[in-house]
Amino acid sequence: MASNPPTFAVPPGFLGIGRRAADAAISIAGVPLDIGTTNRSGARFGPQSIRQASRMLVDGAHPTAWIDVAEMMLSDIGDFRIALGDIPASLKLIEEQAAAVDHLVALGGEHGITLALLRALARRRGPLALVHFDAHVDTLPENFGQAYAHGSVFYHAIEERLIEPRRMVQIGIRSPVQREVFDWTLAHGVTVVSAEEVHEQGPRPVAERIRSIVGNAPCYLSFDIDALDPAFAPGTGTPEIGGLASWQAQSILRRLTGLHFLGMDVVEVAPAYDVAEITALAAATMVFEYLVLAAAVMRPSGRPV
Ligand code: MN
Ligand code: MN
Repeated sequence: MASNPPTFAVPPGFLGIGRRAADAAISIAGVPLDIGTTNRSGARFGPQSIRQASRMLVDGAHPTAWIDVAEMMLSDIGDFRIALGDIPASLKLIEEQAAAVDHLVALGGEHGITLALLRALARRRGPLALVHFDAHVDTLPENFGQAYAHGSVFYHAIEERLIEPRRMVQIGIRSPVQREVFDWTLAHGVTVVSAEEVHEQGPRPVAERIRSIVGNAPCYLSFDIDALDPAFAPGTGTPEIGGLASWQAQSILRRLTGLHFLGMDVVEVAPAYDVAEITALAAATMVFEYLVLAAAVMRPSGRPV
């Protein structure tokens, strides 16, 4: 009798899947850009490390939603091309490649890639609601003279009207930040949920708050792995202590069933600083949780709503 390969021998695509010739409901792509990072670089190696760690999630159904992601029409389409050493040209290339995909899950790469992904999606679907896990607000107008580095992604996304800031919620925020940047963010209507609020309140009220802010608007999930505490995600470029435990983020995500998700990214995984794949496994698991959420809002045909 044929059996599935053991966990350690699962093929190298995300969850062991390869590229489907056609009719993928959700496509997964690596986006190995990291030249807009402002501290430790190395997120260019994130996609492969997340794929490698994802093999832990292949066998069996999700243990609370009872969805088997192996039965979803997923395709790992490989890594997007980037323009080596050139941030604006890379963003343009990423946007072009993302525009060709109906429902994309992107494995970063640094957070700067999200601007290109949102440009591609908002062009088709209009301004989006945003669920954003991060230690950082990422609403700086520029980073050390670079307009499109990883800390300014949502400044541009708001300025370009790719997202609807009153339907945007940031979870896990705790880094030092210029007061005027923080005030700019709040003044635009963004909801900021600090890591401390998550610790004090627990995942349930935080998830309820997210649901009330997003409502039934078309929604994007951007998960910066540094939302997690460095104890749970050491493999990242700009770690901040006091962060979420991986179970807190997982629990919040599991309570977002029914939101109208159109795409997701997980960013800032830099495996050179990781320990025993802790970070890569957390990232792979957040994608897994997202796929389960996305499956819940798909039509019977398997196509996204
Ligand atoms: Mn961050
Ligand atoms: Mn970020």
